Amino acid sequence: MAKRITKEERDQRIKELVAAMLAEEAARGADSSCETIDDIEQAMIRISNAVAREVGIQKLEQHTSQASDACACPQCGEAAIYAGRRSRELISSRGNVPVSEAKYRCPACRRDFFPSDSPAGS
Ligand SMILES: [Zn+2]
Repeated sequence: MAKRITKEERDQRIKELVAAMLAEEAARGADSSCETIDDIEQAMIRISNAVAREVGIQKLEQHTSQASDACACPQCGEAAIYAGRRSRELISSRGNVPVSEAKYRCPACRRDFFPSDSPAGS
């Protein structure tokens, strides 16, 4: 397990991340001298969406990469066979997030299933 970070350390990381994103926007030519409060609100939404989407991508990657070679069928408990991956897009309110899931086929039930559909670690 990674060492737990304190709230102060986390706040500092967020500050650094946001400062970097704002600097990047400024570099793209956004002139902050004629910015309105609305513009600032839009920037808040844009940046929080980008961060939320990235959280989704990283957490989903973690979640979907946990499936192993051998996987028991959720219906009969027989060993199922790895049958490739399914790619789809998760439609979230913070933008679409690509998901790639391992697919398994149970020879006994003749059905496909996705272990990533069940909660992580189950
Ligand atoms: Zn089965």
